[in-house]
Amino acid sequence: MATQQVRAKECSSIGAEGLTLIAHPNREAMLMGLPISRALPIRDRRMVGPWCFLDRFGPVAFSAGRPMDVPPHPHIGLQTVSWLLEGEVLHSDSLGYQATARPGGVNVMTAGRGIAHAEETPRQNSGRLNGVQLWVALPDADRRTDPSFVHLEQVPVVAEAGGKVQVFVGAYDGVSSPAPHFSSILGLDVEIRRKGSLPLALDPACEHALLVLGGDCRLQDDRPLEQGFLYYLGTQRPALEVHSEAGGRLLLIGGPPVPEPILMWWNFVARMPEEIAEARANWEDGDGFGEVRGDHAPRLHAPDLIRFARPNPAS
Ligand code: MN
Repeated sequence: MATQQVRAKECSSIGAEGLTLIAHPNREAMLMGLPISRALPIRDRRMVGPWCFLDRFGPVAFSAGRPMDVPPHPHIGLQTVSWLLEGEVLHSDSLGYQATARPGGVNVMTAGRGIAHAEETPRQNSGRLNGVQLWVALPDADRRTDPSFVHLEQVPVVAEAGGKVQVFVGAYDGVSSPAPHFSSILGLDVEIRRKGSLPLALDPACEHALLVLGGDCRLQDDRPLEQGFLYYLGTQRPALEVHSEAGGRLLLIGGPPVPEPILMWWNFVARMPEEIAEARANWEDGDGFGEVRGDHAPRLHAPDLIRFARPNPAS
Protein backbone atom coordinates (compact mmCIF):
# COMPACT_ATOMS: atom_id res chain seq x y z
CA MET A 1 0.00 0.00 0.00
CA ALA A 2 1.33 3.37 -1.00
CA THR A 3 2.11 5.69 1.85
CA GLN A 4 -0.71 8.18 2.23
CA GLN A 5 0.15 11.80 1.96
CA VAL A 6 -1.31 13.49 5.01
CA ARG A 7 -0.51 17.01 6.15
CA ALA A 8 -0.73 16.04 9.78
CA LYS A 9 0.97 18.08 12.42
CA GLU A 10 3.51 16.23 14.48
CA CYS A 11 3.18 17.10 18.14
CA SER A 12 5.63 16.19 20.79
CA SER A 13 6.38 16.82 24.39
CA ILE A 14 9.72 15.05 24.02
CA GLY A 15 11.14 18.55 24.27
CA ALA A 16 9.71 18.93 27.77
CA GLU A 17 11.80 21.40 29.68
CA GLY A 18 12.85 21.45 33.29
CA LEU A 19 11.65 24.05 35.74
CA THR A 20 10.87 27.17 33.76
CA LEU A 21 8.22 29.84 33.20
CA ILE A 22 7.45 30.61 29.56
CA ALA A 23 4.49 32.78 28.50
CA HIS A 24 3.01 31.63 25.18
CA PRO A 25 0.43 34.04 23.74
CA ASN A 26 -2.90 32.41 22.83
CA ARG A 27 -4.05 32.62 19.24
CA GLU A 28 -7.35 34.47 18.77
CA ALA A 29 -9.80 33.11 16.22
CA MET A 30 -13.48 33.14 15.27
CA LEU A 31 -14.86 29.70 14.74
CA MET A 32 -18.42 29.04 13.68
CA GLY A 33 -19.32 32.46 15.01
CA LEU A 34 -17.82 31.84 18.44
CA PRO A 35 -14.67 33.79 19.37
CA ILE A 36 -12.06 31.46 20.84
CA SER A 37 -8.62 31.87 22.24
CA ARG A 38 -6.39 28.89 21.44
CA ALA A 39 -3.78 28.06 24.06
CA LEU A 40 -2.79 24.65 22.60
CA PRO A 41 -1.53 23.68 20.12
CA ILE A 42 0.36 26.79 19.08
CA ARG A 43 3.53 27.19 17.08
CA ASP A 44 5.96 27.03 19.99
CA ARG A 45 4.11 24.64 22.27
CA ARG A 46 2.32 21.59 20.90
CA MET A 47 1.62 19.70 24.12
CA VAL A 48 1.77 19.88 27.91
CA GLY A 49 2.14 16.24 28.95
CA PRO A 50 -0.60 14.49 26.93
CA TRP A 51 -2.78 17.64 26.82
CA CYS A 52 -2.72 18.52 23.12
CA PHE A 53 -5.57 21.01 22.68
CA LEU A 54 -6.93 23.85 24.82
CA ASP A 55 -9.48 26.38 23.63
CA ARG A 56 -10.86 29.15 25.82
CA PHE A 57 -14.26 30.58 24.85
CA GLY A 58 -16.31 33.35 26.42
CA PRO A 59 -17.39 34.90 28.58
CA VAL A 60 -20.20 35.85 26.20
CA ALA A 61 -23.77 36.95 26.86
CA PHE A 62 -26.48 36.35 24.28
CA SER A 63 -30.22 36.81 24.07
CA ALA A 64 -30.90 34.97 20.81
CA GLY A 65 -29.26 32.22 18.81
CA ARG A 66 -26.90 29.56 20.09
CA PRO A 67 -23.24 30.57 20.26
CA MET A 68 -22.00 26.98 20.27
CA ASP A 69 -23.40 24.84 17.50
CA VAL A 70 -20.94 22.20 16.31
CA PRO A 71 -22.55 19.56 14.06
CA PRO A 72 -21.64 15.85 14.30
CA HIS A 73 -17.93 15.18 13.73
CA PRO A 74 -15.60 12.26 14.52
CA HIS A 75 -12.66 11.75 16.89
CA ILE A 76 -10.05 9.02 17.34
CA GLY A 77 -7.17 8.50 19.76
CA LEU A 78 -8.04 11.16 22.33
CA GLN A 79 -10.29 12.24 25.17
CA THR A 80 -12.27 15.48 25.09
CA VAL A 81 -12.88 17.38 28.32
CA SER A 82 -15.54 20.11 28.52
CA TRP A 83 -15.32 22.38 31.56
CA LEU A 84 -17.64 25.35 31.97
CA LEU A 85 -17.48 28.45 34.17
CA GLU A 86 -20.88 29.71 33.02
CA GLY A 87 -23.66 28.45 30.78
CA GLU A 88 -24.43 25.07 29.24
CA VAL A 89 -23.19 22.81 26.45
CA LEU A 90 -25.29 19.87 25.28
CA HIS A 91 -23.26 16.85 24.18
CA SER A 92 -24.80 14.12 21.95
CA ASP A 93 -22.76 11.18 20.68
CA SER A 94 -22.87 8.08 18.51
CA LEU A 95 -23.07 5.81 21.57
CA GLY A 96 -26.45 7.39 22.32
CA TYR A 97 -25.39 9.57 25.25
CA GLN A 98 -26.83 13.05 25.71
CA ALA A 99 -25.65 15.19 28.59
CA THR A 100 -25.58 18.90 29.37
CA ALA A 101 -22.33 20.18 30.85
CA ARG A 102 -22.80 22.91 33.47
CA PRO A 103 -20.46 24.74 35.87
CA GLY A 104 -19.10 22.44 38.56
CA GLY A 105 -19.61 19.33 36.44
CA VAL A 106 -17.62 17.91 33.54
CA ASN A 107 -18.11 15.92 30.34
CA VAL A 108 -15.28 13.52 29.47
CA MET A 109 -15.51 11.63 26.19
CA THR A 110 -13.02 8.90 25.38
CA ALA A 111 -12.83 8.54 21.61
CA GLY A 112 -10.52 5.51 21.59
CA ARG A 113 -10.90 3.76 18.23
CA GLY A 114 -13.69 6.10 17.18
CA ILE A 115 -16.72 8.12 18.20
CA ALA A 116 -18.77 10.97 16.74
CA HIS A 117 -20.43 13.77 18.68
CA ALA A 118 -22.17 17.11 18.40
CA GLU A 119 -21.88 19.97 20.88
CA GLU A 120 -24.29 22.85 21.10
CA THR A 121 -25.82 25.48 23.31
CA PRO A 122 -29.16 23.94 24.34
CA ARG A 123 -32.38 25.76 23.44
CA GLN A 124 -33.10 26.20 27.14
CA ASN A 125 -30.11 28.19 28.31
CA SER A 126 -28.91 30.89 30.68
CA GLY A 127 -27.80 33.28 27.94
CA ARG A 128 -24.18 32.90 29.05
CA LEU A 129 -21.26 30.85 27.77
CA ASN A 130 -17.81 30.71 29.33
CA GLY A 131 -15.49 27.73 29.45
CA VAL A 132 -12.73 25.61 28.03
CA GLN A 133 -12.42 22.62 25.73
CA LEU A 134 -9.45 20.32 26.10
CA TRP A 135 -8.12 17.20 24.41
CA VAL A 136 -5.85 14.56 25.90
CA ALA A 137 -3.83 12.28 23.62
CA LEU A 138 -4.34 8.67 24.70
CA PRO A 139 -1.21 6.60 25.41
CA ASP A 140 -0.23 4.24 22.61
CA ALA A 141 -1.43 1.17 24.55
CA ASP A 142 -4.93 2.65 25.11
CA ARG A 143 -5.64 4.66 22.02
CA ARG A 144 -7.74 1.93 20.35
CA THR A 145 -9.84 1.36 23.47
CA ASP A 146 -13.63 1.21 23.26
CA PRO A 147 -15.23 4.66 23.06
CA SER A 148 -17.01 5.84 26.19
CA PHE A 149 -18.60 8.91 27.71
CA VAL A 150 -18.87 10.10 31.32
CA HIS A 151 -20.87 13.06 32.61
CA LEU A 152 -20.27 14.22 36.18
CA GLU A 153 -22.77 16.61 37.77
CA GLN A 154 -20.21 17.68 40.35
CA VAL A 155 -16.45 17.18 40.35
CA PRO A 156 -14.52 16.83 43.64
CA VAL A 157 -13.71 20.12 45.39
CA VAL A 158 -10.81 20.75 47.78
CA ALA A 159 -11.46 23.69 50.12
CA GLU A 160 -8.33 25.62 51.15
CA ALA A 161 -7.82 28.64 53.38
CA GLY A 162 -6.85 30.69 50.32
CA GLY A 163 -9.61 29.48 48.02
CA LYS A 164 -10.87 26.30 46.43
CA VAL A 165 -9.67 23.75 43.91
CA GLN A 166 -12.05 21.85 41.61
CA VAL A 167 -10.52 18.61 40.35
CA PHE A 168 -12.12 18.06 36.95
CA VAL A 169 -9.61 15.41 35.83
CA GLY A 170 -7.15 13.26 37.74
CA ALA A 171 -6.24 13.21 41.43
CA TYR A 172 -5.23 16.03 43.72
CA ASP A 173 -4.69 16.22 47.49
CA GLY A 174 -6.33 12.88 48.22
CA VAL A 175 -9.40 13.34 46.04
CA SER A 176 -9.85 11.84 42.63
CA SER A 177 -12.17 12.71 39.77
CA PRO A 178 -14.23 9.64 38.79
CA ALA A 179 -13.77 10.59 35.12
CA PRO A 180 -11.58 8.00 33.39
CA HIS A 181 -7.97 8.81 32.60
CA PHE A 182 -5.22 6.75 30.99
CA SER A 183 -2.12 8.45 32.38
CA SER A 184 -1.50 10.59 35.46
CA ILE A 185 -3.05 13.73 33.99
CA LEU A 186 -4.29 16.57 36.14
CA GLY A 187 -6.89 19.23 35.38
CA LEU A 188 -7.67 21.78 38.10
CA ASP A 189 -9.80 24.90 38.29
CA VAL A 190 -8.20 27.02 41.02
CA GLU A 191 -10.10 29.91 42.63
CA ILE A 192 -8.07 32.23 44.84
CA ARG A 193 -9.78 34.46 47.38
CA ARG A 194 -9.22 38.20 47.69
CA LYS A 195 -5.80 38.68 49.31
CA GLY A 196 -5.54 34.89 49.25
CA SER A 197 -2.58 32.55 48.79
CA LEU A 198 -2.98 28.99 47.66
CA PRO A 199 -0.20 26.40 47.75
CA LEU A 200 -0.51 23.65 45.13
CA ALA A 201 1.41 20.37 45.41
CA LEU A 202 2.60 19.11 42.01
CA ASP A 203 4.22 15.95 40.69
CA PRO A 204 7.75 17.00 39.66
CA ALA A 205 7.84 14.26 37.01
CA CYS A 206 4.98 15.98 35.16
CA GLU A 207 4.86 18.99 32.90
CA HIS A 208 2.42 21.71 34.00
CA ALA A 209 0.90 24.87 32.56
CA LEU A 210 -1.43 27.65 33.77
CA LEU A 211 -4.12 29.69 32.05
CA VAL A 212 -5.77 32.64 33.82
CA LEU A 213 -9.57 32.32 33.66
CA GLY A 214 -10.41 35.59 35.42
CA GLY A 215 -9.42 38.15 38.03
CA ASP A 216 -5.82 38.75 39.04
CA CYS A 217 -3.31 36.01 39.78
CA ARG A 218 0.40 35.88 40.34
CA LEU A 219 3.01 33.35 41.32
CA GLN A 220 4.95 33.86 44.50
CA ASP A 221 7.57 36.59 44.08
CA ASP A 222 6.77 36.96 40.43
CA ARG A 223 4.99 39.24 38.03
CA PRO A 224 1.20 39.05 37.56
CA LEU A 225 -0.10 36.37 35.21
CA GLU A 226 -2.15 37.82 32.35
CA GLN A 227 -5.16 36.48 30.53
CA GLY A 228 -4.44 35.44 26.95
CA PHE A 229 -1.24 33.51 27.70
CA LEU A 230 -0.46 29.89 28.43
CA TYR A 231 2.20 29.84 31.14
CA TYR A 232 4.34 26.74 30.63
CA LEU A 233 5.97 25.66 33.89
CA GLY A 234 8.10 22.71 32.71
CA THR A 235 8.81 19.71 34.92
CA GLN A 236 10.71 19.38 38.24
CA ARG A 237 8.30 21.62 40.09
CA PRO A 238 7.14 20.00 43.36
CA ALA A 239 4.89 22.91 44.36
CA LEU A 240 3.47 26.21 43.24
CA GLU A 241 1.99 29.06 45.25
CA VAL A 242 -0.55 31.36 43.64
CA HIS A 243 -1.73 34.69 45.04
CA SER A 244 -4.48 37.16 44.26
CA GLU A 245 -5.22 40.73 45.34
CA ALA A 246 -8.87 41.08 44.34
CA GLY A 247 -9.65 37.41 43.68
CA GLY A 248 -8.62 35.28 40.71
CA ARG A 249 -9.22 32.04 38.93
CA LEU A 250 -6.93 29.88 36.84
CA LEU A 251 -6.75 26.57 35.06
CA LEU A 252 -3.86 24.23 35.82
CA ILE A 253 -3.11 21.27 33.53
CA GLY A 254 -0.38 18.70 33.94
CA GLY A 255 0.77 15.25 32.96
CA PRO A 256 3.77 13.08 32.20
CA PRO A 257 5.70 14.00 29.04
CA VAL A 258 4.56 11.80 26.15
CA PRO A 259 7.47 9.58 25.12
CA GLU A 260 6.69 9.48 21.39
CA PRO A 261 5.59 12.01 18.77
CA ILE A 262 1.89 12.01 18.01
CA LEU A 263 0.10 13.14 14.86
CA MET A 264 -2.81 15.56 15.02
CA TRP A 265 -4.94 16.13 11.97
CA TRP A 266 -8.42 17.71 12.12
CA ASN A 267 -10.16 15.86 14.97
CA PHE A 268 -7.87 12.87 14.95
CA VAL A 269 -4.90 11.94 17.11
CA ALA A 270 -2.79 9.08 15.79
CA ARG A 271 0.78 7.95 15.26
CA MET A 272 0.86 7.06 11.54
CA PRO A 273 -0.48 9.01 8.52
CA GLU A 274 -2.23 5.82 7.31
CA GLU A 275 -4.37 5.77 10.46
CA ILE A 276 -5.55 9.30 9.79
CA ALA A 277 -6.28 8.50 6.15
CA GLU A 278 -8.30 5.45 7.21
CA ALA A 279 -10.29 7.36 9.85
CA ARG A 280 -11.04 10.13 7.35
CA ALA A 281 -12.20 7.62 4.71
CA ASN A 282 -14.39 5.82 7.25
CA TRP A 283 -16.03 9.08 8.33
CA GLU A 284 -16.64 10.23 4.77
CA ASP A 285 -18.06 6.79 3.89
CA GLY A 286 -20.36 6.87 6.92
CA ASP A 287 -18.58 3.82 8.27
CA GLY A 288 -17.29 2.92 11.73
CA PHE A 289 -18.31 5.95 13.77
CA GLY A 290 -22.06 5.48 14.14
CA GLU A 291 -24.72 8.16 13.96
CA VAL A 292 -25.29 11.02 16.36
CA ARG A 293 -28.99 11.13 17.15
CA GLY A 294 -30.91 14.34 17.64
CA ASP A 295 -31.82 17.36 15.58
CA HIS A 296 -28.48 18.62 14.32
CA ALA A 297 -27.15 20.52 11.36
CA PRO A 298 -25.59 18.24 8.71
CA ARG A 299 -22.43 16.49 9.84
CA LEU A 300 -19.07 18.11 9.20
CA HIS A 301 -17.03 16.92 6.25
CA ALA A 302 -13.35 16.21 6.68
CA PRO A 303 -10.93 18.46 4.79
CA ASP A 304 -8.74 17.05 2.01
CA LEU A 305 -5.93 14.98 3.41
CA ILE A 306 -3.23 17.02 1.76
CA ARG A 307 -4.64 20.27 3.06
CA PHE A 308 -3.41 21.35 6.42
CA ALA A 309 -6.36 20.86 8.74
CA ARG A 310 -6.56 22.80 11.93
CA PRO A 311 -7.97 20.87 14.86
CA ASN A 312 -11.68 21.34 15.17
CA PRO A 313 -12.02 24.52 17.23
CA ALA A 314 -15.00 23.53 19.27
CA SER A 315 -13.73 20.00 19.86
MN1 MN B 1 -15.38 17.27 19.16
